[in-house]
Amino acid sequence: MAVEQIYDYVIIGGGTAGAALAARLSENSEARVALLEAGAGEGPAIMSDGNPEAAVGLWGSSVDWNYTTTPQSGTENTVHTWPRGRVLGGSSSINGLTHLRGHASSYDAWEKQGAAGWNYREMLPFLMRSERAAGRDPRFRGQAGPMTIEEPPAATPLAQDLHDAAVDAGFPRCEDGNAPQAEGVFWSERNVAGGRRQSAADAYLLPVLSRPNLTVVTDAQVQRLLMDNGRCRGAEYVRNGKPGTVHAEREVVLSAGAIGSPQILMLSGIGPADHLRQLGIPVRADLPGVGANLHDHPLAWISYGVKKSPVPGPSRQAMLLARTSRDRDPDILMSFTSVALEPRWAGAQEGFSILFGLANPTSRGSVRLRSADPTSYPLIDPAYLTESEDLARMVTALRMARHIARADALSAWRDDEILPGKEAVTDEECGAYIRRTVGTYFHPVGTCRIGADDGAVVDTALRVHGIDGLSIADASVMPSIVAANTNAAVLGIAERAAHLVAARAER
Ligand SMILES: Cc1cc2nc3c(=O)[nH]c(=O)nc-3n(C[C@H](O)[C@H](O)[C@H](O)COP(=O)(O)OP(=O)(O)OC[C@H]3O[C@@H](n4cnc5c(N)ncnc54)[C@H](O)[C@@H]3O)c2cc1C
Repeated sequence: MAVEQIYDYVIIGGGTAGAALAARLSENSEARVALLEAGAGEGPAIMSDGNPEAAVGLWGSSVDWNYTTTPQSGTENTVHTWPRGRVLGGSSSINGLTHLRGHASSYDAWEKQGAAGWNYREMLPFLMRSERAAGRDPRFRGQAGPMTIEEPPAATPLAQDLHDAAVDAGFPRCEDGNAPQAEGVFWSERNVAGGRRQSAADAYLLPVLSRPNLTVVTDAQVQRLLMDNGRCRGAEYVRNGKPGTVHAEREVVLSAGAIGSPQILMLSGIGPADHLRQLGIPVRADLPGVGANLHDHPLAWISYGVKKSPVPGPSRQAMLLARTSRDRDPDILMSFTSVALEPRWAGAQEGFSILFGLANPTSRGSVRLRSADPTSYPLIDPAYLTESEDLARMVTALRMARHIARADALSAWRDDEILPGKEAVTDEECGAYIRRTVGTYFHPVGTCRIGADDGAVVDTALRVHGIDGLSIADASVMPSIVAANTNAAVLGIAERAAHLVAARAER
């Protein structure tokens, strides 16, 4: 198909945000929308046969960018593997499908950091717009959005007892983990439709691909933005080894994710001036916040053997949102699985695990270019556990997880503690275990944050500071991470971006 090269909107990156945004902006049949995605048009649904349990097999495959971090001083100099989706649907095509929007305090924290109007109350309509959560309370749950929410109908006996152990340990039962102030133990919801995996591309994009005003170009890796006197006019890309350009008459929206968006900005001369000069990239806008503020939920777990074999098969899975102290917002996110996992997903055996992640870490890292070559992978430094407070809270979380694992509800199952076991008793020993085994929860955010200060990259209407015709909508704009898996929050950001971009055109 010949590609029409001039559009009203060019969206770069067809991941969670880009897929949703392209579908929403092309609802206006007058708006010519192009979506450029570096990866292929299909893959995960075929490779996994749509099986919701099959995500792990997609990691490291041809639909994964396969990033690695720089050696992490906070985790014994480990180089962590970072899967990110390189395919239509982006990371939502290879993710774990958990649908959790996050506690109201996570969004209110954005406004406190200078993102005026980006609070829970203002985000709620956009979070609701994305979801179709049948049977949930319509006051705060969407009923008619593109993203279908399904739960496995029943819990296996072990999954039920893991849930009940958290209740035994004193955590409140919570009906809906996506309620505004949800805290305690709840059953997780999933992005599953008719029993099949559902990426943002499946939910939003595939149903509208036949729109004449929507062009989706896959296998097109954007190299840099076309800049003209402080205005972004389009992008240069490479497809099947051949260069191409695409022009936007109204706006370019970057949705290349928390790694890709700052990378493309810096390749285009928009970022920290010193860093760009060192690489010989002409500076078009000195924005020190580009690529800064990178963070992710650090994740670790404890695991146990079992006295009897659990029933295999799909099951509901319990999660827990808790606080390490009363004066904090909820800051520990746990999930309960019916296998004993080895550290960093190295394998699994019969048993159970309690995974614990720090929901609002204070450590901050960066994304920087390795070179001016657009095909070379950037330097990714999430700075895991570089703030001592983060390690201390992870130790508290480990103790909470152990307290749950030792509850009566699990006495028929619980055998020896496999990880960390007897080697980790004191705080120092628990801390050492965490540093040795912690890894990614797959949730990088923050590298182009919203705000008005010198370190902010986009304003509260998501427009890049100092550049006309360019905005950003993806996980990178979050000032701080939500106390939840990040996909649902990114969908909310994309819904709001669609509203903001369309409103600009009407003026
Ligand atoms: C393994 C894994 C498990 C996860 N599990 C969950 C979960 O269970 N629940 C949950 O809520 N969240 C989960 N997440 C996180 C969630 O999927 C992400 O937060 C979300 O998808 C991010 O959306 P995004 O639009 O910011 O980026 P992405 O979805 O990553 O999209 C970015 C897109 O841009 C494309 N791109 C990048 N650079 C370029 C370029 N130069 N040119 C063209 N295209 C480009 C990429 O190929 C990609 O398609 C998981 C993520 C991973 C990787």
